Amino acid sequence: MQGLIHHVEIFVSDLKRSKEFWGWLLEELGYDVYQKWDKGQSWKLGETYLVFVQAEERFLDVPYHRSRVGLNHLAFHAASRAKVDELTLALTERNVTILYQDKHPFAGGKDYYAVFFEDPDRIKVELVAPQNCY
Ligand SMILES: [Zn+2]
Repeated sequence: MQGLIHHVEIFVSDLKRSKEFWGWLLEELGYDVYQKWDKGQSWKLGETYLVFVQAEERFLDVPYHRSRVGLNHLAFHAASRAKVDELTLALTERNVTILYQDKHPFAGGKDYYAVFFEDPDRIKVELVAPQNCY
């Protein structure tokens, strides 16, 4: 549909590590592998795909930081609060850093049920349940 996100491409510091993380997460959310080549991989859901590409060595001296200019975080719809809970547990088991643990799952507000966590490059990722959907 016109105006919806067509794709997002993200450079990563370690493609193998990012593929393991994002492959697991995106497939949990219903994405399928879309494109695959030696320097990158993408996953697609509906009309949107996300691409992860190995950054060139010469650009790795300055690491990503989500507080700098550029992407701060990516947020995904979860089917329900139960799915947020299920994935929070699975993320914990995978030793993924969960952010704002003291306020979880209401770090985004009292009617906003979500989990916030970090990808391997510390890009913030958010998974949010629909309102009033348990
Ligand atoms: Zn957000």
